[in-house]
Amino acid sequence: MPGNRNRVEVDAMYEKITDSSAGCDLCGEKPCDGQLYLSEKHLCVCPDCKQKLEEIPQKSRANLENYLLGNVM
Ligand SMILES: [Zn+2]
Repeated sequence: MPGNRNRVEVDAMYEKITDSSAGCDLCGEKPCDGQLYLSEKHLCVCPDCKQKLEEIPQKSRANLENYLLGNVM
């Protein structure tokens, strides 16, 4: 009998980091407390952008990350 899996586990692919010298790769924001999230592809995002990324389906997000990372100077 299949378990009740109505709670969709948000894929926690983000590592919480504290780096006051780093900024968000998406919006350039530097959280004053240095709280950032590092994705599995080493995209560094602020809590706001992390939330936005989490709303994007996994597949599109991977494409988006690849796109963004390809454009990082
Ligand atoms: Zn951001």
